[in-house]
Amino acid sequence: MTEFLRDFPDDAACLEHLWRTRYAPDGEHAECPKCQEVKPFKRYATKQQRQSWTCTACGHHLHPTAGTIFHRSSTSLRLWFHAMYLMTSTRCGISAKQLERELGVHYKTAWRMFNRIRNELMAEKEPTKQLNGQVEVDETSWGGKPRKKLKGMKEAARFREAKTTVLGMAERGGRVRLRVIASRRGEPLSGAVRANVNPEAILFTDDWMAYKPLRPDYAGHRVINHSLGVYVEGDLHTNTIEGFFGNLKTGMRGTYKKVSKKWLQSYLDEYAWRHNQRFRGQRSMFHLLVEEAAAQ
Ligand SMILES: [Zn+2]
Repeated sequence: MTEFLRDFPDDAACLEHLWRTRYAPDGEHAECPKCQEVKPFKRYATKQQRQSWTCTACGHHLHPTAGTIFHRSSTSLRLWFHAMYLMTSTRCGISAKQLERELGVHYKTAWRMFNRIRNELMAEKEPTKQLNGQVEVDETSWGGKPRKKLKGMKEAARFREAKTTVLGMAERGGRVRLRVIASRRGEPLSGAVRANVNPEAILFTDDWMAYKPLRPDYAGHRVINHSLGVYVEGDLHTNTIEGFFGNLKTGMRGTYKKVSKKWLQSYLDEYAWRHNQRFRGQRSMFHLLVEEAAAQ
């Protein structure tokens, strides 16, 4: 937190950071689209302090916020940065309600910022690029515990069926992708796997019957016999995705009391984004998020 306060004390510091990230690494020279070469840029003092830098050769203005979620926002750049910092500074993220409190803004403002940061900056960059390699696939149900004790297997099964199903797919040593699916059975499940996992991949699943039809479509399908109580056999396991589900559930229960079905997919995307950032090197999540904003 003190690091954030030191680096981004005010709007000007945030704007300067965007300027350097997007256009001028040294703060002074940028490629001028009009001159079509690198020129010195200056920030001239005007009566109404402009949010832009000016090419000293031709007078062209560059606006560091143009095209980003911050542009023409009535919320200050400093508040946006602060929100992004808060959303990336904990492993589990924070809720819009927590943002409201921490930033001291109205709930509506917090919610709007929260959604744009999550849906636009944390969205999957290549949602159609299929997972490949060794891919663990598993499904889990999402929703509360039963209010009364369930009578027998049938009632337990009915309760489970009524809950939302989340399909998780994890490349070993790679990306994770999560999808809310309509059912844990048949086409909704196998169709989602086919859409998200490349046929050249080797699938690792448990022995749930809905995975069986996928076998002929993949380079390999290795099945761990969970129903016989076997969980690991050498490299045959689904521990990567199960571990991810475990963290996801703990984290989401801690951060959000209740997530409605309408928002579930975007919460899942936020979690996957967090996880998938670890392949982008040692930079902090906050700086990666600022980079996403600058790249818009
Ligand atoms: Zn110019």
